[in-house]
Amino acid sequence: MDKQNPSEPASRETGTTDFVRSLIDADNAAGTYDGKVHTRFPPEPNGYLHIGHAKSIVLNFGIAEEYGGKCNLRFDDTNPEKEEVEYIESIKEDVRWLGFDWEERLFFASDYFEQLYEFAERLIQKGLAYVDDQSADQIRETRGTPTEAGRNSPFRDRTIEENLDLFRRMRSGEFADGSRVVRARIDMAAPNINLRDPIMYRIRRQHHPNTGDAWCIYPTYDWAHGQSDWIEGITHSICTLEFENHRPLYDWFLDALDAAAPNRPRQIEFARLNLGYTIMSKRRLLELVREGHVSGWDDPRMPTICGMRRRGYSPEAVRNFCRSIGVSKTNSQIDIAMLEFHLREDLNRRAPRVMAVLDPLKVVIENYPEGKVEQVEADNNPEDPDAGTRLLPFSRVIYIEREDFREDPPKKFFRLAPGREVRLKHACYITCNEVVKHPVTGDVVELRCSYDPESAGGTTPDGRKVKGTLHWVSADHAVDAEVRLYDRLFSVANPADQAQREGREYTSYLNPESLSVLKQCKVEPSLREAPVGTTFQFLRHGYFCPDSRDSSLDAPVFNRTVSLRDSWAKLEQSGAAG
Ligand code: ATP
Ligand code: MG
Repeated sequence: MDKQNPSEPASRETGTTDFVRSLIDADNAAGTYDGKVHTRFPPEPNGYLHIGHAKSIVLNFGIAEEYGGKCNLRFDDTNPEKEEVEYIESIKEDVRWLGFDWEERLFFASDYFEQLYEFAERLIQKGLAYVDDQSADQIRETRGTPTEAGRNSPFRDRTIEENLDLFRRMRSGEFADGSRVVRARIDMAAPNINLRDPIMYRIRRQHHPNTGDAWCIYPTYDWAHGQSDWIEGITHSICTLEFENHRPLYDWFLDALDAAAPNRPRQIEFARLNLGYTIMSKRRLLELVREGHVSGWDDPRMPTICGMRRRGYSPEAVRNFCRSIGVSKTNSQIDIAMLEFHLREDLNRRAPRVMAVLDPLKVVIENYPEGKVEQVEADNNPEDPDAGTRLLPFSRVIYIEREDFREDPPKKFFRLAPGREVRLKHACYITCNEVVKHPVTGDVVELRCSYDPESAGGTTPDGRKVKGTLHWVSADHAVDAEVRLYDRLFSVANPADQAQREGREYTSYLNPESLSVLKQCKVEPSLREAPVGTTFQFLRHGYFCPDSRDSSLDAPVFNRTVSLRDSWAKLEQSGAAG
């Protein structure tokens, strides 16, 4: 940047600045909006929010916070056919969960229908809009192509009086759905197709969640959006790149309405967030739900905010991720490993450590008295000195992880094997003396071990070392649980693009292994009443949380939020994951 801004960069929180903030800084330096910064997050209530929306929320609300400004929540509810109250409620919940507050500034584009109608009459009166009787097909056919001009409608030169009369009768319900539209009168030969007399109103008898049956004409998004920003006094209207070539149209509308600074919004476009191995289109996410490929919008595999919440993601991690990726002018795809990195960073600090055995193998400690129970002390989180300790019951029969035992251990396998001694985390040393097998299948069904009574707390008087430390649970005290492990929803990095390239359905790339359900897990007793909304670290397995829908006292269900390390990235590096 060559222009020096004397004031401190506004983005104090991240310590970085970007082109959006630079533009705002420049406006502030020039006094364009009298130093005011007012943004908005404008979702259409036609689906649940996803991680891409989170980027927009963090940007809009974040900028307002940084500059001491305000951010509105505005529902762009101009298309009642696809919009539902369920979506409105979920969007509010998700924005709040992310940690943002619109205070008293909850708005709806439909609040402005009357005002927009008056604006449209103003345009008609200026000869800048007209009623067109052509069909939707005719309008499409005469629009031209990027290299070819469009053709004027035969109704383009109606008188102002006739246009006003027809528009008023459109509103009062005199004409059939789809029989007429109102169009801006701009230029059918404009190189930018958005300026070729775009549609402003359609006739559609459709009940609206907010305005009921008051209207049978609805404004298009293009007509409503910029004017809604203007009405709300938005200074910086931040949106995604696909609206870049709508900006001339939005500016044309504002010119036509004589909007001038300091009240005229400035539109700034940034690149959408795309994440690998998932999709980010509400239409497709809705299809996945409707066609039963996932259990709902909040299926923990979905890139939706409610899905991530149910999966155990924290708002802090999502916010940190959104801030760290920054904003840019070019579309790119972000690796999901980035999101998981921020998640682990956050959970590592906060998540209580517990023991859970996902694939249990029974171990009988033969020299431990039957019926005896000891309580061993276990720290809740070595990363957090204030997290304290808890007591864990230890007894003669325990479960360990099946994969922590090998009858014939390969080199570098330091866990349990016949004749070998290992440490049980927080408890004592055990040695495996005998392997019990199923008489028919030959599967290992039980290990007979002995413990060293001197090894309580995990050390021995002779200071002898063991190489392996295993997690375990006491058989009599453990809680039966179901554990759900998740993998990527799709097995290719870019399902939408690849589907188009290969002429296949994007659903054909769904990963059949995206969900594995483990029904025989044994978890430590402290997890019996694990509150929904808490994420735990299951030692050596990753982070898990109780499922908000399916978990109950009698039948706890845990979702794996994320594994401990990025095992996938390691596999890819070693070339094992083709
Ligand atoms: P559609 O318009 O196709 O229904 P949308 O994802 O654009 O879907 P909106 O409700 O219009 O949904 O989005 C609300 C806001 O979130 C808009 O300002 C939009 O630009 C922004 N947004 C949507 N998707 C992303 C994304 N992937 N990355 C960043 N911002 C996004
Ligand atoms: Mg949109």
